[in-house]
Amino acid sequence: MGQLLDGQLLADLRTGKLKESVNKLKAGGIIPCFCVINIGNDPSSQIYLKTKKRKADEIGIVQKVYQLPENETQADLLALIDRLNADQKVDGIMIQLPAPKQINLNQALERIDPEKDVDCLTPSNVGRLWRGDHFVEPATAHGILALLDHYQLNLQGQNVVIIGRSSIVGKPLAALMLERDATVSILHAKTQNLAAYTKRADILVSAAGQAGMITAKLVKKDAIVIDVGINRQNGKTVGDVDFDAVRQKAKYLTPVPGGIGPLTVESLMEQVVNLTRRKNGR
Ligand code: NDP
Repeated sequence: MGQLLDGQLLADLRTGKLKESVNKLKAGGIIPCFCVINIGNDPSSQIYLKTKKRKADEIGIVQKVYQLPENETQADLLALIDRLNADQKVDGIMIQLPAPKQINLNQALERIDPEKDVDCLTPSNVGRLWRGDHFVEPATAHGILALLDHYQLNLQGQNVVIIGRSSIVGKPLAALMLERDATVSILHAKTQNLAAYTKRADILVSAAGQAGMITAKLVKKDAIVIDVGINRQNGKTVGDVDFDAVRQKAKYLTPVPGGIGPLTVESLMEQVVNLTRRKNGR
């Protein structure tokens, strides 16, 4: 039976260390300040905002939420970003996704000062990520690498298959894993014969958002299976992986909940603290 990769445990450990770093900053008069812009009333976003706030409070980071109406204009959003960019007290800025349709998201993301871009979504930070000289890492990808490192699971030469090509999960994870000398394939909804790829994966990462999609048949024996998906099914939160069946075949796998989710929130706070340190030359 596959060993669980306990994301919750690691997130708690890292939170403890992060609190110590924040305490040191505070002793020097620096309090990390993180601003989240939420446009509209997406119900999942409200849950994610609360989760982030709890974590920020626990660590000692100031989190401010800028709640904008569903019909917010592009001009007003850009004006807010300009104000936050210029505010010396602000260390990190992110736009909570999804944003309403009238918002030109790429234009808004481009407006964020790269030095305050906690999600690593500005064009220059995305470019740096692929170039390998980045100073901020997208939270989910950062959390996945932290988990593999914690369990001393080496990426070098490993055949990695990532399902999902979003700019917040699949693409940045591919960039970081490539940097660690893995051989990476990115699959998506138009991929033909998905099983031909997944069955060869030493490390299979699913970020499709499709409950139960990863059956045991799709998994190579003794693979490492990372389940990023968060889905609601029969009133429960489940991942993309058919957990009980895949556990019989995989060597390691992450649970949902308690896997990548808690690490993502913790990793986001790490990015805020890193940017704060960088801004203050610490
Ligand atoms: P997106 O919807 O932006 O991307 C989903 C990706 O999966 C797309 O690239 C899509 O392909 C691909 N995909 C969907 N269905 C299939 C399929 N049947 N076969 C192959 N590929 C498929 O989602 P996100 O990247 O934002 O999130 C993905 C999942 O991860 C969601 O469940 C989300 O809730 C969760 N998530 C979890 C986090 C955590 O902390 N654990 C953090 C962030 C997200 P195509 O591009 O062709 O449409």
